[in-house]
Amino acid sequence: MIRKNPILYIVIPCYNEEEVLPVTSVQFLNKLEFLIQEKGISSASKILFVDDGSRDKTWNIIVQLSTQNRHFCGIRQSRNRGHQNAVLAGLMEAKDKCDITISIDCDGQDDINAMDKMVDEYLKGNEIVYGVRNKRETDTFFKRFTAQSFYKIMRHMGVETVYNHADYRLVSSRVLQEFSNFKEVNIFLRGIIPLVGFQSTAVYYERHERIAGESHYPLSKMLSLAIDGITSLSVKPIRFITGMGFIVSLLSFCLLVWIIIRYFIGMTVQGWASTCAIVAFIGGIQLICLGVIGEYIGKIYLETKARPRYIISERTQENSENSVNKDEKNS
Ligand code: UDP
Ligand code: MG
Repeated sequence: MIRKNPILYIVIPCYNEEEVLPVTSVQFLNKLEFLIQEKGISSASKILFVDDGSRDKTWNIIVQLSTQNRHFCGIRQSRNRGHQNAVLAGLMEAKDKCDITISIDCDGQDDINAMDKMVDEYLKGNEIVYGVRNKRETDTFFKRFTAQSFYKIMRHMGVETVYNHADYRLVSSRVLQEFSNFKEVNIFLRGIIPLVGFQSTAVYYERHERIAGESHYPLSKMLSLAIDGITSLSVKPIRFITGMGFIVSLLSFCLLVWIIIRYFIGMTVQGWASTCAIVAFIGGIQLICLGVIGEYIGKIYLETKARPRYIISERTQENSENSVNKDEKNS
């Protein structure tokens, strides 16, 4: 269901980005105006900032922007909940007001010019267009290595992700309506969006350096995103443990046979060292297994609570004379 002249919402999560926002907001606005003029995007399109509970002046900047230009609007989360939930809040806010959304980081790292191709692909009939980085030269070796290992591990775990795709993507409102039925609290958008289905494609772009400020994704957060991604979408680690349990049990059984034989031929020496080593080894494996199982039980615990995934505390004022209701426009 491709709409000509679609309303586009660009969804931008922001967390403590007061240094970056004044620069990139202008770039986003220029891009939106270009898309309106050149690509037939509706003039009711907007740039939706999601303030993820920033502690600096980010929200003030968003409010100011929304009073300056009708294309800017914003919502504010009641506290910091992380990038994934910020994007989710923005997408859910936008889904009834627009025909397509593009989610992108606010730090200028993702090339906004890829939006042209994304819109073209949408008009050709694709309801999801993934932005994929073709190079990672601007990343440090460490970031590149960890990120690429992450995609590989995800694939081995059976989680369908698009290689080198972060959260820069175009999604139609129809896909978002279906996606809103995925009720999980542990959200890993990159893994869930492909599960929704519909016709999709990818466009390629180069990733730049951050314009200012620092990454909010240190190693600890990257690891927790990776663990969340795997454990919320794959049960392979549990199967792996079961397999390992079988192998270790088999080995222990062979060992037992060997010990019994040695006992009967009277060659039992004081195998203290080997015993201790084995006990420690098995103990270690058991702890790992318990840890992985605990991770899943933790997830179940959080899911059963069914807490809201985001809470919006404020919205920028709707500029009523300029805002066009999607259905009014399309009727
Ligand atoms: N972000 C967010 N909440 C957070 C951390 C980050 O909304 O808790 C936003 C941030 O403002 C940026 C995007 O998510 O727009 C990506 O974050 P960042 O650039 O720090 O990560 P990196 O690009 O280094 O992976
Ligand atoms: Mg960044």
